[in-house]
Amino acid sequence: MTETSVSFKTLGLDSSLVQALDALGYSKPTPIQAQAIPHLLEGKDLCGIAQTGTGKTAAFALPSIHYLTANPQARPQRGCRMLILSPTRELASQIARACTDYTRNLRMSVNAVFGGVPIGRQMRMLDRGTDILVATPGRLLDLIDQRALVLKDVEIFVLDEADQMLDLGFIHALRRIDKLLPKNRQTLFFSATMPKTIQELSSQFLSDPVTVSVAPQSSTAERVEQFGVFVNQSEKQALLTITLKDTPGLDRALVFTRTKHGADRVVRHLEAAGLPAAAIHGNKSQPQRERALNAFRNGRLKILVATDIAARGIDVPGVSHVFNFELPNVAEQYVHRIGRTARAGRDGQAISFIANDERSYLRSIERLTRVKLQILPLPENFVMEKELLPHPAPMRPERDSRDSRGRGGPGRGRGGFGGGAPKPGFNHAHSNKGGDDRGGSGERPRRPRRPMTKGVRAVGRS
Ligand code: AMP
Repeated sequence: MTETSVSFKTLGLDSSLVQALDALGYSKPTPIQAQAIPHLLEGKDLCGIAQTGTGKTAAFALPSIHYLTANPQARPQRGCRMLILSPTRELASQIARACTDYTRNLRMSVNAVFGGVPIGRQMRMLDRGTDILVATPGRLLDLIDQRALVLKDVEIFVLDEADQMLDLGFIHALRRIDKLLPKNRQTLFFSATMPKTIQELSSQFLSDPVTVSVAPQSSTAERVEQFGVFVNQSEKQALLTITLKDTPGLDRALVFTRTKHGADRVVRHLEAAGLPAAAIHGNKSQPQRERALNAFRNGRLKILVATDIAARGIDVPGVSHVFNFELPNVAEQYVHRIGRTARAGRDGQAISFIANDERSYLRSIERLTRVKLQILPLPENFVMEKELLPHPAPMRPERDSRDSRGRGGPGRGRGGFGGGAPKPGFNHAHSNKGGDDRGGSGERPRRPRRPMTKGVRAVGRS
């Protein structure tokens, strides 16, 4: 992760926060933190153009926690002082975990509410009130409709991953939530991309905002070693299995498929070949998703297969390889995907499997990232290796990845990308020009600015 020359202390953050950051090993603010924190401490609205991996969670959480501590209030019953909206459950629990870490030396309550888990406990928690609430839009509105939550006490509102919110169809939910929030609040709006629709949305939520932008998409892409292999769609599974078996230094691999069924299919094939894997996507229950993600996070599971939506915003340190089983048809999505690796200054590799009909996607990706993928040939002995791979058992009802047993036995055979090419550790560039192509709403009233008192904002709640 890129660091800056300023320190958290000089930014004026509360000393108990600085201590918590020390304990977490955050020595210096990242660029988004250095840029955003001073404005946020002044109580300004912020429009942040940044992706996950830049340190944006701390960028919005730290000054907000500083403010909440400096301006103590009772926890509002059936309410919260700070509301963070996240598009996915995984990201919501990740943000809540980060806020819990940052508030470890403070008396502050952090809670997350999202769908897929019983609502009763969330209602009871809200009855007592919470300082910080992280929520997905659907469950938030459910809780409001059930009169378990009101938003009138929100002092700070964070909308995270706005572009993803729109992709997921949350626009109406967001408009409704906007109407329920007090006008006199601070709003922080984050999006990885800023197309016109997002700009329009941001102007609805923000009042006279400061804009900060870090790591334009192309620069994230530049930090990742990017490879492509031209391969028939029907041979991608074999290529994935062989590559995963034979790639040295593969700590954690995230495999992206375009569909949920595709993700399940890939998992079945990998497991049949003796490679334990799990899938996360929208058809999995919340406990299944959490279990898979935890196993991946703590290193018990090396291969996670995901659809874009399930994986978006997930921060798992140490993802060594990202595989694009299919290329995404939206170039920005490619950047989100490969942003899962090469985080926190580590090296990462992204390997894309490109079928003939995906070449136009490749062109738009290369145009966006301004990086040309290094094309690798298929592994040596690919055809022979492919024939030796076991076939998975026919589809069974959903099951736990923990229960599944591969039948193929690991480490069989030799793969390796062919023609004197590098081993599939993909550590060397290999140019095989052309590749081994085997065919293969209206204005919101302006909010009065919160008056400032030396690094501490007065509560501007009406
Ligand atoms: P985010 O973009 O918020 O998802 O953060 C990405 C990762 O960077 C998370 O694992 C954070 O814990 C970590 N991180 C955030 N800020 C810093 C910092 N200043 N120094 C080191 N790591 C950080």
